[in-house]
Amino acid sequence: MEYLGEALTLGFDSLIFGICLKQYFHYRNSMKAVKNAEIYDIGENLKLIINDRPEKKIEYVALRGTVGALGKPLYGVHDKSISGVVQKLSVKEHVVARTTAGFWSDQERTMQEIYNTVPFALRQGKHSVEILEPLSAEILDMDVISDEFKPSAPTITDHIWGFFTGVRQRGLQSTEEMLREGVTITALGEISSSPESPEKLILQPPLNTPFYLTTMSVSSLLRKLDERRRIYRYLCLMFGAIGLVIGGIVVRRYWKDREEQRLSEQLRRSLAESRKERRQRVREKDLREDQICVVCRTNPREIILLPCGHVCLCEDCSDGIDTDCPVCRGPIELKNAAYIV
Ligand SMILES: [Zn+2]
Ligand SMILES: [Zn+2]
Repeated sequence: MEYLGEALTLGFDSLIFGICLKQYFHYRNSMKAVKNAEIYDIGENLKLIINDRPEKKIEYVALRGTVGALGKPLYGVHDKSISGVVQKLSVKEHVVARTTAGFWSDQERTMQEIYNTVPFALRQGKHSVEILEPLSAEILDMDVISDEFKPSAPTITDHIWGFFTGVRQRGLQSTEEMLREGVTITALGEISSSPESPEKLILQPPLNTPFYLTTMSVSSLLRKLDERRRIYRYLCLMFGAIGLVIGGIVVRRYWKDREEQRLSEQLRRSLAESRKERRQRVREKDLREDQICVVCRTNPREIILLPCGHVCLCEDCSDGIDTDCPVCRGPIELKNAAYIV
């Protein structure tokens, strides 16, 4: 229990270190995968290449094309002239909340998040590739097409309520985001020809590499991934160093405590030794049989065992006997010096 504080800090630090390390490797591996992705134009050539490959698929490709709905597109809630294929509607509550430290801070809580999608494809000229499961993309770049903040008008009661509960509502923010038609994006995923018709190509989330639908070019994406990789590397170094420092402190304290224990044990032993010597000097010699200790049969009987009441041990021998009386085998609850006069 003495090291509880240090153990908790060390545990918390290792947890954050572990998370950062996992993220670092994630971005490092993602970068490697993106660098190795095969880059193609959407066109007749791509179909030929895929149909030549085993299982008629390529595990990781990067394509660039224009977003277009395959059927009816989605329309903006506020602005009907905007059409798209993936829509995200979210409502966030903005509050000012009293923190445990006692001051007030701005916070936001997501209250609702809705996604809508329609089938869509990436197009280049008259050729296209259908995109499946866009919502499982690790990066899905969408445009914010409306962002509204409605401040709340608090009454006196709300103010009083807020004062006691520590939460004051500031307002509601409704945001609408959309992957719009006509936008050019880069898609990275697994491409294959459709089982239904070899003319149709589909791009879906790959098995072991990240799925991206981004407005960035491949080189900007790589820069962004590298930036994140660097941030996590820095955090790993920082939390690793903190862990080492705490570990060092714990080891030093443990060593110091052990050294102190060792010294006090040494002192206790030398005191006991000198007491034993002193006792030896003042002890009577030439004792009768019923006056000598039943264990060593040399020293006088000096200790009473309770509750049985037997006076049968010298002080030296009683140090090593704690559980039961050597005469009657009764349990020893207390030992005390016996003075027979
Ligand atoms: Zn003895
Ligand atoms: Zn006894």
